[in-house]
This record gives sequence, structure tokens and C-alpha cells, in this order.
Amino acid sequence: MAKRSMPVCSFCGRARNQVKQLLVGPDCNICDACVELSRKILSEGSLAPGAAAAVAGGAAGAADNAALPALKVPKPHEIKAFLDEYVIGQAYAKKVLSVAVHNHYKRLNQAAHFPKTDPLSSVEIQKSNILLIGPTGSGKTLLARTMARLLDVPFSISDATPLTEAGYVGEDVENVLLRLIQAANMDVARAERGIVYIDEIDKIGRKAENVSITRDVSGEGVQQALLKILEGTVANVPAHGGRKHPQEQFIKINTEGILFICGGAFVGLEDIVRRRLGSRSIGFIRPHAGGEPGAEHNRHAEFLNLLHAVEPEDLIRYGLIPEFVGRLPAVVALDELSEDNLVRVLTEPKNSMVRQYEKLMAMENIKLSFAPAALRELARLAVRKHTGARGLRSILERVMLDIMYEAPMQSQARAYQITKAVIDEHYAPEEVDRKTA
Ligand code: ADP
Repeated sequence: MAKRSMPVCSFCGRARNQVKQLLVGPDCNICDACVELSRKILSEGSLAPGAAAAVAGGAAGAADNAALPALKVPKPHEIKAFLDEYVIGQAYAKKVLSVAVHNHYKRLNQAAHFPKTDPLSSVEIQKSNILLIGPTGSGKTLLARTMARLLDVPFSISDATPLTEAGYVGEDVENVLLRLIQAANMDVARAERGIVYIDEIDKIGRKAENVSITRDVSGEGVQQALLKILEGTVANVPAHGGRKHPQEQFIKINTEGILFICGGAFVGLEDIVRRRLGSRSIGFIRPHAGGEPGAEHNRHAEFLNLLHAVEPEDLIRYGLIPEFVGRLPAVVALDELSEDNLVRVLTEPKNSMVRQYEKLMAMENIKLSFAPAALRELARLAVRKHTGARGLRSILERVMLDIMYEAPMQSQARAYQITKAVIDEHYAPEEVDRKTA
């Protein structure tokens, strides 16, 4: 609602606080990105006198896609090596993703690869979207985001929960595409090769046990609506977001080349897999190497191992419709991060949380360091909160609050070490136990 009262660009619908500059006219406003796009369309001189072009629309973009240079597709090994720099653990997920993403972008280059005379030119490689199943804070979003960074393609994140099928109160599924177009700075042609991450996809199941009955109905409707954009269609995206409106300007976008990565925790799915496997589930071993040794024989290990055995039929039983499951052929389960891996998350990735705090403090002339015992304690606390690496961030914010509050007031260079004792000051052991009980 607040957005309504703020001036918005009449072409792309973004509000003043979402753009660099907004030129406000008596009846119509335009943002810097749409001015730039208009300039491009006019300077190309491709418009016949009197012809109209959709500035924020795909009419220009969709046609232009062929004009974009062919993407340089990294090899699966290169993709995995890049992911290793930013994402800890999840070896199997990285491998599946590397192959799926490699094939997806190879598919976009297929026309250029085979001459028309080659019999293979008529073979159509089908789209392969990805489903990531894993607990919160295990790196689902991070994997998708890192992939987009490597490929240098636009990336957007949407949440599946507010989506509803057309006609119900909520957001139209096309808004998922609007976010991607905005991430591409309204360049539809670039957006058509982007990556969309849709979180909480497990919440649009039509589970009988679901709390709200209306949610069940729209859940299935949302899956139907998403189906089309997942498999590839030319979608009409309302330029202003929200609901479609008869007088709305539309942006046309072809979703053929967009890679959709869906993610969710799928709580309860392991029970469905266990029921299917029956007695065979006892002692089930994950079907890949690369996991951590030891400590596998606990409840979580069993839960995770079972998720590695997920089959499409389990997802259907969970509440996804068969056609929807069919559009997500690459299914991969992520592991809950162990204490050891959480210590690594703190320090190893290129932009690890510890490095980020070190940098923030270095800007105040403070040399910040963390004692190994402190890192271990942070990881231990996060494991007990069951929020994965997400928990680390909130714990660290609390521990660092006083230092970050005082640091800008000091003028002398100093060194500061976070020890286990510093953490204990903020987190009495009983407190964590009480919160997670
Ligand atoms: P989710 O699985 O809930 O999508 P995210 O990917 O959003 O989790 O993780 C939240 C944050 O936690 C990330 O931004 C990152 O800082 C950290 N993180 C999560 N998993 C990992 C991981 N496997 N390796 C490194 N950092 C991670």
C-alpha cells in the first residue's frame, strides 16, 4: 500500500526508492533504466516511423535474444570448483547442480552448435529445472545465487507462499518473472537467460494435513500456474507487479531459457520415503561419497539419508502435482550442516562471515580475530538452534553488537580477539537449551 503513494515509473512500475533516478512528469514518470532502454531502442533505428515499442516490455527483449552473444558455458568441474569457493559441504548437490546448469546453458547454445543439415539439429533438448530439498540455512539459496554469479546472468529470489492462482487474493505467479526482469535492470533479453530461485516451494503442496483448506485449493492452482512458466512460455508480466489489471501494461518475456531452481525444507517428506522403503530404510546409506565420516548414526543422519532417496512419487504423495514434479527433473537433497562444517562456513568461504566482520572492523582501525575455541562455540550454538548457517549470523550479530556500537567512537588502532568467554557472556548455555526445548 505504501508503494501506491510513492511515485513509480510508468513504464516498469518500480518505485522511486527502487531506482537510481525518477523523472516525474504531470501524468507520467520514467526511471533512469527505462530512459536508457528507450535511448537504445531509438538509437538502433529499428522502429518504423509511427511504430510503437514496449520500452519496459519484451517486445524488444524477446526478439533481441538471438542477438545476445552465446554464453560461455563452464564445464561441470569448473562450476563445482567455483561453488567450492563459496559453499561449504553439499558435495553431491554441487555435482548435480553443476551438471544440470551446464546442460541448461548448453541447451541455449544448441541452435548455434548444429548446422541445419545435421540430423541432431532437429533433436530438441528439454529443459531441466532443479529442485533443492534441504533444511533451512543449509545453502540452497546460496548455491543458486553463486551459480548466477559465475555465469554472470540475472538472478532473483521469490517466495512461493504469497503466490496464488489468478482470481484469488495474493500475488500472480508472473511477479516471479517481474523480479527477474528488475534484477536484469529491465533488460528482458538478459532476463530470458537468468536464474530464478523460488523458495518455500513445499508450502504450495495440496497436503491433506495442511492447516488451511483454502491454501490447499490455491496451492494446487499455483502449481498449475507455475507449470507454464517453468516449462517455457511467452508470459505477460504486469509491469506494476501485484495483480493483473485490464488496463495494465504488460512485459512479454519468453521463459524457455530461464533456469528455475525451486527450494524447500519439505518437513515430513522423510516419513513418506521411509514408508515407501519400508524395512529397507533401516541402514539405508546415502548413494554418494563425499559426506562426513563418523557421527552419521543419529536421528538427523537417518533423516538426511532418507531424503537422498527421494523419488518423484514421494513428492507427489507430499502434495506436488505430477506435472509439476515432471518439470523439476533434477532433484537433490542437501545435508544439514554439521558442527565441523559450520566452523568452516565461518572462516573458509571467500566472503565468509568472519572475513566480513574483520573487514568492517578494519575500516575502524581495529584488527579483529576469533579464537578457535570461539569459532567452535559459535558452531555449537548454531547446531543447537537448528537454523543451520542462518543461526550463525544472528549469533554473531549479538556477540558483535557492543563492539560494533563502540568501534566508530575510538580513534586509536587496536586489536580485539573474540574468545569463547566473550561468547559465553552473551549466551549462557541454559538460554540456548531453553529456546530450543
Ligand atoms: P537456505 O538453505 O535456507 O536457502 P541460505 O543459502 O539462504 O539457506 O543460507 C543463509 C546464509 O548462510 C548464506 O547467505 C550463507 O552466508 C550461509 N550458508 C548457508 N549454507 C552455507 C554453506 N553450505 N556454505 C557456506 N555458507 C553457507
